[in-house]
Parts: sequence; C-alpha cells; structure tokens
Amino acid sequence: MAALPLVFSRRYQAAISARHRFPMGKYGAVHAALSARPWFSEVEIHRAAPATLDQAARAHDLNYVERLVAGALSDREVRDIGLPQNASVVARAFASAGGTLLACRLAKDAATGLAASLAGGSHHANRAGGRGFCVMNDVGVALSTLLTEPNPWLKRALVVDLDVHQGDGTAEIFADEPRVFTASLHCQDNYPFTKAISDLDIGLPAGTGDSGYLPAVDQLLHRLDSVAIRADMIVYNAGVDPHVEDRLGRLALSDSGLAARDEMVFEWARAHRKPLCLVLGGGYDRDVAVVAERHAHVFDRLYSAHKLRT
Ligand SMILES: [Zn+2]
Repeated sequence: MAALPLVFSRRYQAAISARHRFPMGKYGAVHAALSARPWFSEVEIHRAAPATLDQAARAHDLNYVERLVAGALSDREVRDIGLPQNASVVARAFASAGGTLLACRLAKDAATGLAASLAGGSHHANRAGGRGFCVMNDVGVALSTLLTEPNPWLKRALVVDLDVHQGDGTAEIFADEPRVFTASLHCQDNYPFTKAISDLDIGLPAGTGDSGYLPAVDQLLHRLDSVAIRADMIVYNAGVDPHVEDRLGRLALSDSGLAARDEMVFEWARAHRKPLCLVLGGGYDRDVAVVAERHAHVFDRLYSAHKLRT
C-alpha cells in the first residue's frame, strides 16, 4: 500500500515559555502521539526546507518579511501576533510555510491524493503582517508560490477552512486572486471580531453544537461542489478549536462531531477525486497532551481516508 506522506520539522515547535497561552508544545506532542500509532509504519515523514524570503514575499509585504527576519517588528506588531519575537519563532514561521508548500506538492503526487503537514493553518496573518498567533500565512505562501511557478500544475485552488476562527488573513491575501477560492466556516462571535470577506463565509453563533454544525458543514460542501470541480487541489484547515472543551473555541462540538466533520470533508474530496492537503490549524488547551491528542485524532481519520482511497 502507498504510504501516507506527512511533513514535519523540529522547527515547528518554537522556544517560548511553557506557560504562554499559545500551546507551542503541541507540535512536538502531535508528532510523538502519531509516532506511537500502529499505522505510523505506513507513513512517510518528509522534512521540508524552510520557505525562502522570496516565497514569503509572494503572500506578504516584502517590508514585513524583511523586518521579521531582522527581528525588527514594532512592539505593536509583536503584540498583535501574541508570540515573542525571537529567532525560533521566526524560524518556525518559515518552516511552517515551507512545510505546507511541500505537503501541497506531496498531495498532488501521492497515489491517494492525500498529504498533510503537522503544522500550518496560520490563517490570521495577512499581507501586511502577522496577528492572532500567526506570524506568516503558510497557506498563502504555499499557494502563491505554486501559482507563480513556471507552467504551474496548480491553476485553481480551494481553501476549506474549518478552524473555529475565520480565515481572515487567507481571505484578504487572495481577495483579488480569482484562482484561489477561500471558504470559511467559523464561530461568528469570536476572533477576529472584524471579519474579512472570504469567497464563501458561514458564521455560526456561539454554542452551536454538533446538531447545528454538521448540517452547516454539509451545506458548505454542497455550495463548494462547483468550485471543487474546477480546482486542482483542496487545502483543508482542520483546526480542532470548534471542540467544546477548547479554551478559545465557543462552538461546542463533541469528539464525534469533530470526527464527523473531518470524515465529511475527506469523503467529499474523494468524491470529487481531488488532492487534499491538510494543515493542523488551531487547538487550545492548558494541557498540551490533551490538545495534541485532539489533533492526532484528525490524523487517525486522515489515515482511514487514505486507506479508503487505496
Ligand atoms: Zn482557530
């Protein structure tokens, strides 16, 4: 059976305080959790090169990227990002963007059309800079890079963002790019409080549980059918922060609700015979092991989808 390609880098986990409200330790913990899975023997781990400055500047203002590299962001910018300005945080941003780029290429080449990065989904970073724990928009960098390659295989992409927060940065980066369709299903009463305009937005009220959420996923995917038909690739932000116990989520999904969500997306992509690249997205808990396991379950489901496609 073909192996499932997953992208990982030790740079995904930056050195910040373990007491920081962003659970940075989850990146190493997700990798450790997956390594212990019985199915991990059928995984091919890929190490991505970090994105280059030039690639980063296809999604972000060059001035921002240069100041990021130089450690010269303003206090205001650092506050908006919510992560300390240090070399490992910068290295993580470039590693994450390079990882998503590689995962997109791997999904396209994979026998089953599925691949994932064990990071990514930094969807609040916009053209002007980072915010909301997002330093660099990895999906923005990856898709902008693929679209501008000579004779690109990627001519149209679809971003399905089911992180509980709106994918506002991705929407903004691709607002004037007709080749990338951005779709976001999120909690309306949550960060970012001023929403961007995606090509398709569905905002749900706080407290929406499985019974309201899953029909909304179904509706979203139905409305994306005509886009998926023309797309060369789907990028799926599989943030687990819609979960009821998530610190920042507010959408009250159960474990089985989250599982059903992922299965719907994978089945829909399979029905359309499209490559799908999964990125990790958000997930917040004081206990890193808990949130890492919640992310790891997404990969259990991705592996099942991979098996179904073989
Ligand atoms: Zn989120």
